[in-house]
Amino acid sequence: MDQLDAALADAEIAAYWTDRGDRPTPREPLAGDDRADLVVVGGGFTGLWAAILAKQQRPDLDVLLLEAHWIGHGGSGRSGGFVSESLTHGLAHGAWLWPAEISRLVTLGRENLQEIEKFVRQEGIEADLRLCGKTSVATAPHEVGELSDEAELYREHGMAARFLGAGGVRADVASPTYRAGLRLPDAGGLVDPARLVWGLAEAAQRLGVRGHEGTPVRGLRRHGAGVRLKVPQGTVRAGGVVLATNAFPTPLRSIRRYVLPIWDYVLVTEPLSAQQWESLGWRDRQGITDSANRFHYYRPTPDGRILWGGYDAVYYFGGRTDARLARHDAAHRNLARNFFHTFPQLDGVRFTHRWGGPIDSTTRSTPIFGCTRGVAYAVGFTGLGVAAARFGAQTALDLLWQQDTERTRLSMVREKPLPFPPEPLRWPLVQFTRRSLAHADADGGRRGRWLRFLDRHRIGLGS
Ligand SMILES: Cc1cc2nc3c(=O)[nH]c(=O)nc-3n(C[C@H](O)[C@H](O)[C@H](O)COP(=O)(O)OP(=O)(O)OC[C@H]3O[C@@H](n4cnc5c(N)ncnc54)[C@H](O)[C@@H]3O)c2cc1C
Repeated sequence: MDQLDAALADAEIAAYWTDRGDRPTPREPLAGDDRADLVVVGGGFTGLWAAILAKQQRPDLDVLLLEAHWIGHGGSGRSGGFVSESLTHGLAHGAWLWPAEISRLVTLGRENLQEIEKFVRQEGIEADLRLCGKTSVATAPHEVGELSDEAELYREHGMAARFLGAGGVRADVASPTYRAGLRLPDAGGLVDPARLVWGLAEAAQRLGVRGHEGTPVRGLRRHGAGVRLKVPQGTVRAGGVVLATNAFPTPLRSIRRYVLPIWDYVLVTEPLSAQQWESLGWRDRQGITDSANRFHYYRPTPDGRILWGGYDAVYYFGGRTDARLARHDAAHRNLARNFFHTFPQLDGVRFTHRWGGPIDSTTRSTPIFGCTRGVAYAVGFTGLGVAAARFGAQTALDLLWQQDTERTRLSMVREKPLPFPPEPLRWPLVQFTRRSLAHADADGGRRGRWLRFLDRHRIGLGS
């Protein structure tokens, strides 16, 4: 058995966060017909925030949340738990797409994070939310200059940014692969995503939101001034609907072509010993991302493990999202190999969990918003929705209630990205783009003709 096989031998195929024995008992599926003023479809961060914000702003509304599987089944319960202040998949990406609005977007992102922090504190949600910022690291020569430019951009927008040379970044976190680092102490932080999901679900219930799990919405139809939702158990009549189905095939067919489920894979180690932590340094216990196209994200967990994810981004023909795809031996092996390459001092550490989940990608790497015939939506957070979901939920409510707000005036909200082409064209194009991204990583960051064409049209394939 080689080092990687041994390290992965006992890893359960389950999301670490939801596999700790404190998962709440699921709410009963809906038992027959029902009606509500507002029906929220999807029990992840977006759906939970939509239900909470709706009740806070209109306490008399009868709000019903319907979740196909269980609350936290999607990205929300399987994520890395990075909490980002960015609404635009990073500051540089937002400044590239919307230079005239980026300052406003930065402010809205910061306010969004402050509101999350305040709510978590007020409700006493124990989700280990720590606004410890993050560090980006360069592991290839061409990434060093990019990080230094990024530092400048953060400072222009009033955020602290410390560019670190190889010695500085390795003194903070000990990896022989680091060539430079960018410490961003104000750039969000980390959370235990499952405990945040469960805490929000309890808070929603305290506010009077009704909820059912095991209740997939199979269809939507306009009915008089409201909407009829088809569920296996019957029909639900709603005054309005918020769709928070993210990477999963949404019942509103017209928006399916905008969101591509790209599978992302994750490992979690056993708890490290005090000596092993000592060998790493990592005193702030912040989240870290590296800077390649095929990047890794990693973080300590509250109980002293390391969560390690990213790198391979896998698309399955037809946009499959079924749970059995959470196992991908080759992707998990690649992750394990890159983990030991980054931290050779952890040789012998074993992984206890491995899993995957569909990333909610759009061609713009930012969500799409809209409202059509009483059905509002905010979907497609492209792997950075743990915090942005709250902003998305509020925007969906603004649109549903036809309110003109600073959110609904944003180009990001008003304008749709290009849709993905339909199958059978989609699969080969996604594969070709993935290969081009890997090739650029191997070729000193040089983007070939295809990627330059996509850049000119502001099209990306993010995760
Ligand atoms: C492996 C992985 C790692 C990630 N890491 C991070 C990270 O570190 N930081 C970050 O910011 N983001 C991360 N993300 C992305 C983040 O998890 C999502 O952007 C975020 O959770 C979006 O929340 P959501 O509520 O919109 O979607 P989800 O959490 O996916 O919730 C959608 C819910 O809708 C339900 N649903 C779907 N269809 C129906 C239907 N027809 N009827 C009823 N219910 C339905 C699903 O079962 C699901 O529970 C990661 C994602 C993955 C997959």
